[in-house]
Amino acid sequence: MGRYTEAVCRQCRREGQKLFLKGDRCYSDKCSVQRKPYVPGAHGQSRRGKATEYGLQLREKQQAKRLYGLLETQFHNYFKKADRQPGITGENLLILLERRLDNIVYRMGFASSRKEARQLVNHGHFTLNGKKANIPSMLLKVGDVVQVKESSRSSHKFEALQDAATYKTPPEWLSVDVGNMAGTVLAYPLREQIDSTINEQLIVELYSR
Ligand code: SF4
Repeated sequence: MGRYTEAVCRQCRREGQKLFLKGDRCYSDKCSVQRKPYVPGAHGQSRRGKATEYGLQLREKQQAKRLYGLLETQFHNYFKKADRQPGITGENLLILLERRLDNIVYRMGFASSRKEARQLVNHGHFTLNGKKANIPSMLLKVGDVVQVKESSRSSHKFEALQDAATYKTPPEWLSVDVGNMAGTVLAYPLREQIDSTINEQLIVELYSR
């Protein structure tokens, strides 16, 4: 377990910022980015030098990929889909990523991290519009209703998540009924409603090389 935790936290240290991959730990003084604010590896503390344009673009893509917990091919497929849509490709990309079921479960406050959300979805604890939904990558539409399955709601796990959810504020594009552990997609997010420091234009430039 210890090794796994470190591997996750190394991703944040590599990106030089918190990616909030570990739930409550990320908000505590145990966070590795705070304890070891340098790039992991034997020479992490002595690394110097100005990043190249390519280096900056690559880091931005890696950061986004890690934030949403995706592999390279999956992430590139989202980019291709975003590029085919009308509008601004970078914004389309972020909106597609935000529409994933695991992300929405996390944004609604029903999981402490996207990683936990994915695990809970995989284990079949959620319904979508009243039907079983255990595929984290499902893209939700406006009007879709996500809910914790009735039989799961009385578990200690979900009681604790429900308590925690009462203190969270969901983004404007989602509405949440904590009492019923349910939430609705009111609209697709606007770029300014996505609380992310990602510079999506750098990702577009990287894939356009
Ligand atoms: Fe680890 Fe969370 Fe801190 Fe990232 S933000 S280093 S995942 S504790």
